[in-house]
Amino acid sequence: MDRRKFLQKTSISSAGVLSGAVKLTGQEDQFKILNPRDRVPINFIIDDSTALVNLAHFGIPQFKEVFPSKYLQDWKKLPREIPDSFVLEFLGWCADKGVKGKYSMVPYPACTGWLNRFIPGWSKKELEASLEVVRKYATPNWDIHSEMISHTRVIDIKTGLPYAEASGDFMENWEWSQKKSADELGEYIAYSLQILKDVGFDCDGVTTPGGFGSRNISNLALGTKRAVADLFGHRVGHFFRDIITDPGKSVQPQVMHVENLNSGDASCSVHMIGCTGDWFGGWDGLNPGDADRFITEDGRAGRLVEVIGSEEPALLVCHWPGIYYNGEKIGFNIFKTVVNRLDQYYDNLYWMKLTDIASYWAAKEYTVIDKTPSGIQLQAPFACKDFTFTSALEMQQPMMVFDGKKESLTRVDNRSQLTTNTWAKDNGVNYYCVNLSVGLHSLGGI
Ligand SMILES: [Zn+2]
Repeated sequence: MDRRKFLQKTSISSAGVLSGAVKLTGQEDQFKILNPRDRVPINFIIDDSTALVNLAHFGIPQFKEVFPSKYLQDWKKLPREIPDSFVLEFLGWCADKGVKGKYSMVPYPACTGWLNRFIPGWSKKELEASLEVVRKYATPNWDIHSEMISHTRVIDIKTGLPYAEASGDFMENWEWSQKKSADELGEYIAYSLQILKDVGFDCDGVTTPGGFGSRNISNLALGTKRAVADLFGHRVGHFFRDIITDPGKSVQPQVMHVENLNSGDASCSVHMIGCTGDWFGGWDGLNPGDADRFITEDGRAGRLVEVIGSEEPALLVCHWPGIYYNGEKIGFNIFKTVVNRLDQYYDNLYWMKLTDIASYWAAKEYTVIDKTPSGIQLQAPFACKDFTFTSALEMQQPMMVFDGKKESLTRVDNRSQLTTNTWAKDNGVNYYCVNLSVGLHSLGGI
């Protein structure tokens, strides 16, 4: 059942009032689902990263072969490598600041070599060390995505070779993907993810290179979901494809292809939307950005100020060659300024992985909350962390029961202190924050 059908069905069958997908059986405004921990989710999306290879150096000549008048950058001047010393410096700073994000590992970067075999130009030992840096220091806080297979030429997945024709029709960034079926895209995505699985990564999603699937989003979403489920067994897949920077337009994740909603085996694909342009250092590391476009020094203007004010997830977007900026680190320095300004002006941000934001949105849209004689019940088709909602129902010592296991909620002083398994009474409103597993939960108490 897709979301539209679900909502239609719910609105016809429910005598109550709909708020999101919450079924209200009692008075109006009984329940309201908030953001996780009642905070604004935030994530740093990094595209075009991989092990060692500077994708701009190796990709530009391949783009130029197809569009000779467009790619005039002096690519030979760009370093061939983005060193692990920089990866470590960057990840260390982010860990200290609590930053979480998405980090691409392009599996066959610009057709230079394979992360699960070798990359000509570097020793096997260097490749192994580079992969180990990402496994050890990135995976705790960063989603690992493939960004299709090469990010340049389309690969014939039967042979592993790039197609012979160098045209937009056979580049991942342009035409090839636009009319493919969900099965065809799913097989292509699975091929890219298998390489990452071979080197020890566990993935919930993918990033599209350039325009991949831009006119074929529904099949892209379904193909991603199937690939992530087949290879890793994850029921909620997600993908990053689009950015929206127009003021006033929603950047909420879009939950697509919901299936088996009532079976205990529900699945979906979540379209994650970036809310900024790359105003760090550009995709080629040749276009210096500006922190003010994200948030000005006085904290009053900038795209992030708008999005955070709207309480929708703020997903910042950059490209790894622009963060390194050929050793000048211009993109990284802009990012540091942005994070420091956010720290100065906000205390309600929540750095989260994309996979956790995706699961939250699936749970937010499809969890059904009802009042029962003894409290509240939540029927959750999707698991998520820190599911946060309000209720008029006040309970002393609330206790969550799931699958026979009981978990007491700890009271905190106010809504800004909500963490997992806590509750608060703030301005006469009751706030609850709980982890959801798939299935029926009851929240009761005296
Ligand atoms: Zn890219």
